[in-house]
Amino acid sequence: MADSARSSSDHHALGVHGPDALHRRGLMLILSSPSGAGKTTIARRLLEHDAEIAMSVSVTTRSPRPGEVEGKDYHFVDRAEFDRMVEDNEFYEWAEVFGHCYGTPKAQIRARLKEGLDTLFDIDWQGTQQLYQKAEADVVRVFILPPSIEELRRRLTGRGTDSAEVIAARMARAQAEISHWDGYDYVVVNDNVDACYGQICQILAAERLKRARQTGLIGFVRELTRG
Ligand code: ADP
Ligand code: 5GP
Repeated sequence: MADSARSSSDHHALGVHGPDALHRRGLMLILSSPSGAGKTTIARRLLEHDAEIAMSVSVTTRSPRPGEVEGKDYHFVDRAEFDRMVEDNEFYEWAEVFGHCYGTPKAQIRARLKEGLDTLFDIDWQGTQQLYQKAEADVVRVFILPPSIEELRRRLTGRGTDSAEVIAARMARAQAEISHWDGYDYVVVNDNVDACYGQICQILAAERLKRARQTGLIGFVRELTRG
């Protein structure tokens, strides 16, 4: 749409499609929360229902686990290639976790931003800070809180994926995670999952309409104000 909006000869394209279809720049939506508050649940719904957003795919030096797919779960590379990417500044951020390297590559995300497509990140407050430092204007930071600490514990237990020990460690870490709530643009409480998902959709809708992201507006308004 950006091309037709910019074309001075094509008035009909504007009339037919209207400003809703004007080109926009994509955004980087970050969801953070203490473990168990529901970010995976919300992220899954978003990815399922919204074709304009996709999960960020990290680069890692660890080997694929059974069932993991190259390009979907991770981009799997060897250490030499990872080091080259670090050297060439190809990551927004990277870290070494349990002896393996993980990084968020810039190239694919930047291409999506240009195309008007959004990228979803499920990262903690430290990753959020790093991404924000590198791409402030493109980043939207959302923090998800549980309705109570008791409910957080119930969800971690109910999920059935972790031992009592791991749950205790996650509960201890939750306090530290929650203390970073003020480093985010939006904070939502995930009490009712439908309501929380609805609020995140509203945030996304409003952020997509931000003037600075609506790159197609320039040509559109030029047309509107011509003579
Ligand atoms: P996170 O990704 O933040 O660790 P999950 O999305 O895995 O959290 O959610 C933890 C557990 O809580 C899951 O079993 C999920 O089904 C459940 N859950 C998520 N949101 C809600 C909610 N609003 N009400 C009740 N249970 C929820
Ligand atoms: P796993 O090997 O189990 O998939 O991931 C191990 C850890 O690496 C997880 O804690 C995960 O959050 C972290 N991780 C995955 N991708 C990235 C990334 O791009 N950057 C950073 N800093 N950590 C990552």
